[in-house]
Amino acid sequence: TILTPNSPTAELQALDAAHHMHPFTQGVELAEKGARIITRADGCWLTDSDGNRILDGMAGLWCVNIGYGRTELADAAHRQMLDLPFYNTFFQTSHVPALNLAAKLAELAPVDLNHVFFAGSGSEANDTNLRMVRTYWQEKGQPERQVIISRWNAYHGSSVGSGSLGGMKGMHAQGGMPIPGIHHIDQPHWWAEGGYSTPEAFGLERAQALETAILEIGPEKVAAFIAEPVQGAGGVIIPPDTYWPEIQRIVDKYDILLIADEVICGFGRTGNWFGSETFGIKPDIMTVAKGLSSGYQPIGASIVSDKVASVIGNTEFNHGYTYSGHPVACAVALENLRILEEEGIVERVRNETAPYLKERFESLADHPLVGEVKIVGMMGSLALTPDKATRAAFAADAGTAGFICRERCFANNLIMRHVGDRMVISPPLVISKEEIDTLVTRARLSLDEAL
Ligand code: PLP
Repeated sequence: TILTPNSPTAELQALDAAHHMHPFTQGVELAEKGARIITRADGCWLTDSDGNRILDGMAGLWCVNIGYGRTELADAAHRQMLDLPFYNTFFQTSHVPALNLAAKLAELAPVDLNHVFFAGSGSEANDTNLRMVRTYWQEKGQPERQVIISRWNAYHGSSVGSGSLGGMKGMHAQGGMPIPGIHHIDQPHWWAEGGYSTPEAFGLERAQALETAILEIGPEKVAAFIAEPVQGAGGVIIPPDTYWPEIQRIVDKYDILLIADEVICGFGRTGNWFGSETFGIKPDIMTVAKGLSSGYQPIGASIVSDKVASVIGNTEFNHGYTYSGHPVACAVALENLRILEEEGIVERVRNETAPYLKERFESLADHPLVGEVKIVGMMGSLALTPDKATRAAFAADAGTAGFICRERCFANNLIMRHVGDRMVISPPLVISKEEIDTLVTRARLSLDEAL
């Protein structure tokens, strides 16, 4: 049976339930409810199989930065498929889309990040990083430097390597993660874990946990520290201002490589091209994916400093994916970057839409359920609580408030995601002020209904 976007919803849902296993989803529960089937999209709006128009407050999965329906990307894919649909970059060959995209990324990335290793996703790129930093130290004659430090509640992907780098305990509980040699420290999540202190003091304390861990493990055994400039999937956790400068001081002091996972923060999400610029971070490697192609094609990459690339280049790095530098994905990513640049989308976010979104989103702070509002650029979160003064959590068995609120958003044709009791947004960067008003109005309505 081949159904079409115009097939009846019940038929689409039944076929989906019968054969399609969904990521991060309980299959039985979904089969009972029936998935909402998305059939089309344009700008910031999705259409479902019942014809509802839904405002996408999450840009897909934090990725459709330029919005849906850009025919230029479809044209770029079409042209590239006709010219050269596939060739690999393994055995001393290259091709035009890959070399052009690598050069473009080197131009956009901060100072000495001039070398690009392609992957098919953010998870794959972080697997690359894991092996690359360990190989770096082997080649430098310090093979004992193998431990990578990460943070609890970080998200770095879903493969065994990247899931181990991540700090999601629910993921670790399934399938043998983390792999050896990865050490997690606590996150700079002031609202949930730092109420006893000021944000500034807490940010310093959580950064200094890195130094404590390095000294416990032994600096001569630590290869790298990996972190998202802003934890996204963990709940849009924006660290206190004191956090990143102290982390930078510590990695510099112990000569530890810094991997900035920019899979969400990259390509304008925080109001600059990269989150590392917003937070003053100087990474040795940046992980990118998602906004690199605005999600129109699966692609990820590690953008690597001169320092690391020159050492890796001395050996054969026995690593790569069939789709490393896939020509169609590279061509589409290049076109996406052209649009971001030529239409001044990142500048518009920084100067116009992000300040407007901040003002409107922060107006939700007076809602009885909202304990904290955090936002940077085009990513924000609301902490829901039954008691603002004590920051109490909702009882888990009551069904989390976040879950109820997300369901109400869904019913009100707004996509927001929930992470525990945090409601998060990450709309397309091209969202208009009018659409921001709609987003905030629907969010407030949904909060009211969740009360
Ligand atoms: N790193 C971060 C910060 C992410 O948010 C994600 C995905 O959400 C990944 C890595 C993994 O990327 P992918 O899902 O493309 O493998």
